[in-house]
Amino acid sequence: MKYSKLEENLVELIRFTSTVLPPDVENAMKTAWRRELKGSPAKGAFKTILESVDISNLCSLPVCQDTGALVWYIHYPDGSELIPVEKAIKSAIRKATDESYLRPNSVDPVTGENPGNNLGNGSPTIHFIPWKKKSWEFNLLLKGGGSENVGAQYRLPDVALNAGRDLDGVYKCVLDAVYQAQGQGCAPGIICVCIGGSRDSGMAGAKLQALRKLDDTNPDTVLDKFEKKLFRDLNKLGIGPMGFGGKTTVLGVKVGKQHRLPASYFVSIAYVCWAMRRATMTLSGDRVKYSN
Ligand code: SF4
Repeated sequence: MKYSKLEENLVELIRFTSTVLPPDVENAMKTAWRRELKGSPAKGAFKTILESVDISNLCSLPVCQDTGALVWYIHYPDGSELIPVEKAIKSAIRKATDESYLRPNSVDPVTGENPGNNLGNGSPTIHFIPWKKKSWEFNLLLKGGGSENVGAQYRLPDVALNAGRDLDGVYKCVLDAVYQAQGQGCAPGIICVCIGGSRDSGMAGAKLQALRKLDDTNPDTVLDKFEKKLFRDLNKLGIGPMGFGGKTTVLGVKVGKQHRLPASYFVSIAYVCWAMRRATMTLSGDRVKYSN
């Protein structure tokens, strides 16, 4: 890979991710808008959001004022040098913040200081994943803070929910998390779940589900059926866009699983707001391709 152009390519990936809603998400929002009753608050909310998404796209403006936390998943050819890549990512983030594609979002939790460039301890989050291919794939997720606040992690069994260590218990946790969130987290959300794992790997696994397209099929047939059931039932809650009531409370449900220790059974839920910003840049020789 030519590292010289990498920074420039990464700034473009950040701009693209921040300003263009993925087509599958936009289509789901349009479908939700059509389903709502004429004159209802839900119909109005969807219309306003969709108009704003159009303007962002046309004018290269962030889809939401909170441009979120930067989470990177990078597939790289095994044996590649990674230090220059990390350096280019940080430099691209600085530039993208200067260009206002990103809001300065990184704040020291103790001093309250904001360096103004989206960098800091733990920011950005970068996952490097080796693969056997010769190409590189940079996946970027911009995860909004309001939706992060309503994510949840449950430890089964949960007596208060009457939830045991099985899929029915998981179902109760997901229903509870979305019910508790109501419109906070900017519904309609995309509910990303990881069953099992540990506290840290479970939440990371839940967030990883956010890279999936809304209309994909879970290769695990049991989980695929489970996702469909949750999607149907969560949309019966009537919470609607931004909590105004309505027929669409979630745009999608994605569920993965990880092996767990016998002693623990976690259900980790990452709530992604309607402003689901994810995009991919593929580098293959001299070719650069952006998609979302
Ligand atoms: S939760 Fe999402 S839509 Fe709401 S303010 Fe944050 S980034 Fe924007």
